[in-house]
Amino acid sequence: KDTPVDGPKRVLLAAPRGYCAGVDRAVIAVEKALELYGAPVYVRKQIVHNVHVVSELEKQGAIFVDEVDEVPRGSHLVFSAHGVSPAVVSAAAARGLRAIDATCPLVTKVHREAVRFARDDFEILLIGHEGHEEVEGTAGEAPEHTTLVGSPDEADTIVVRNPEKVVWLSQTTLSVDETMETVSRLRARFPLLQDPPSDDICYATQNRQVAIKKIAEASDLVLVVGSANSSNSVRLVEVALEYGARAAYRVDFASEVKQEWLDGVATVGVTSGASVPEELVTELLRDLAGAGFGDVQEVKTAEEDLLFSLPKELRKDLAGNN
Ligand code: SF4
Repeated sequence: KDTPVDGPKRVLLAAPRGYCAGVDRAVIAVEKALELYGAPVYVRKQIVHNVHVVSELEKQGAIFVDEVDEVPRGSHLVFSAHGVSPAVVSAAAARGLRAIDATCPLVTKVHREAVRFARDDFEILLIGHEGHEEVEGTAGEAPEHTTLVGSPDEADTIVVRNPEKVVWLSQTTLSVDETMETVSRLRARFPLLQDPPSDDICYATQNRQVAIKKIAEASDLVLVVGSANSSNSVRLVEVALEYGARAAYRVDFASEVKQEWLDGVATVGVTSGASVPEELVTELLRDLAGAGFGDVQEVKTAEEDLLFSLPKELRKDLAGNN
């Protein structure tokens, strides 16, 4: 498998790829807020984890901050798609900020599960990456009841209060396979471990992983468009390698593709993370065509037609404007 391949050059383009319903909604929320209230509109953290999206919104007048106390009193503040803890919501209210909650409804669903299991006095084993904004938000719903499990190995060592009352929940953008491994290692230690009422890893994360698995083995090189802090994009690189891609790289922009990556390559697999606008993939395909990879075959493993309505605060103000 290490010998250079010399067949006809082609691109296998994964579908679904790119924007999910939660990202689409969050980006439109910031744009609508700018239209409705005028610039600046503040956004806590990156609205979605993509450098291009963030810089485009900055040009339109969005100001990204790390914390609520950086926002002038009385301003509009959008909470990012990754969600916030109740402590952040309270801090924004205490500062008199007009909050617009762009948390993805599929993240909010996990928050609700956390609240409910904590109320029933379960210990929540939250599978996710330490320091990720989504994990901070979800854990913040029930900090006393939550233990973070960062990897399958950690499942072997974590300590729980009462092994009879444990449930696992997860970040929405993890590797499905690795999460299942973590769960089975947890269950080996805690046989009464409860499952979440429905999948916490969201449809978009799952669909993008299924699509890349389908093309990885046939690909000499997989290119994933996405930012370094985008959990689901980084997972796509890992999944591509696990499923047989000879090499896989993540790039923010087409210009980051190195010439030598294409040496001896016949088939390039292409996909993009859930926070990536399609224009960035189009640019990559244009560059690849320039390098002789003009034959693009889309490999579709699912249809997606989910759409979320805008945050309620915006819907109210938009209705009032008409
Ligand atoms: Fe929502 Fe999933 Fe998209 Fe995250 S990746 S915003 S959870 S749909």
